[in-house]
Amino acid sequence: MSRFWSQVARDLTPYVPGEQPKIANLIKLNTNEHPFPPSPRVVEAIRAELGDDGARLRLYPDPNADRLKQAIAARHGVTTREVFVGNGSDEVLAHAFQALLKHDAPILFPDITYSFYPVYCGLYGVDHVAVPLAADFSIDPADYCGQRGPNGKIGGIIFPNPNAPTGCLLALDAIERIAAANSDCIVVVDEAYIDFGGETAIPLTRCHDNLLVIHTLSKSRSLAGLRVGFAVGHADLIEALERVKNSFNSYPLDRLAIVGAVAAIEDEAYFRHCCAAVVASRETLSTDLAGLGFEVLPSAANFIFARHPQRDAGELAGLLRQRGIIVRHFKLPRVDQFLRITIGSDDECRALGNALREILA
Ligand SMILES: *Cc1c(COP(=O)(O)O)cnc(C)c1O
Repeated sequence: MSRFWSQVARDLTPYVPGEQPKIANLIKLNTNEHPFPPSPRVVEAIRAELGDDGARLRLYPDPNADRLKQAIAARHGVTTREVFVGNGSDEVLAHAFQALLKHDAPILFPDITYSFYPVYCGLYGVDHVAVPLAADFSIDPADYCGQRGPNGKIGGIIFPNPNAPTGCLLALDAIERIAAANSDCIVVVDEAYIDFGGETAIPLTRCHDNLLVIHTLSKSRSLAGLRVGFAVGHADLIEALERVKNSFNSYPLDRLAIVGAVAAIEDEAYFRHCCAAVVASRETLSTDLAGLGFEVLPSAANFIFARHPQRDAGELAGLLRQRGIIVRHFKLPRVDQFLRITIGSDDECRALGNALREILA
């Protein structure tokens, strides 16, 4: 704190990202990165863009990243006017808060969800109501169909599907029900993990002009380090995001990110293969942990959320760390006895299983 801080800087409660350790050889199962490298075509495309001398880096990138919008539009069967791209989906989410969710009524999101949402509320001055998850940690669509703020109005709805950090999935008909019941406000579905077992709501944006679906290349496309995310929705919603983006940073995606993301989107076969492998490992690990006495929530994501009835989650996380394995533990109400464990490679999953067996013995 210093006297030079603005009131905004003073009032913020920033998001705390999962640790990116500087120590080598740790088994890192704490931030939901993909165990496989990105498509080889990504590397080729980035090398080609760099060329021998990197001369193209002298030039600004395309401010609209049109090539990338075209690739996304083609894959999802929409037009480029229905696609917005940003520097990671966190940036896309931030713009959605400012452009579409900031109104004079509170927005709704689950009490247990992506912890960046309350941070954006703080940054942009958006009120919110935390809607409790059901006892089994699922989202009950009925809670979002009819519930209203103090003056009978809400400013919008946002939730991840599958939810984070629970991994629980809502079926597409539930998403449609929520969108239809709230045609007077925006419904944002954050599909960061949808490729690991869910069905995307993008086709629903056709008939629901209040629905915005947000994706990231960080998880299922193995590109957390490249920082690319996108949104799909009615062209009028996208225009609002473009207005905010063009008042903030004209070039959120650099040249390497644009060509790398295009290559990743276009390599459908590699993408499907890698997602299927993670899903298979998730099922094996879930069975393994259940065998050790863990309660494992049903996950449609690239992580599992699990608790052991006899062992404190914080203590388990500490003991795993001593064995070189890091997982995520949230010291939050209702879930402080859970660990969120990213699905790593088969070797990493085995090492985790063995470490837990040893700790619990
Ligand atoms: C990881 C994650 C994001 C952010 O992804 P980036 O594209 O890397 O910024 C957004 N929402 C949820 C729910 C996530 O878990």
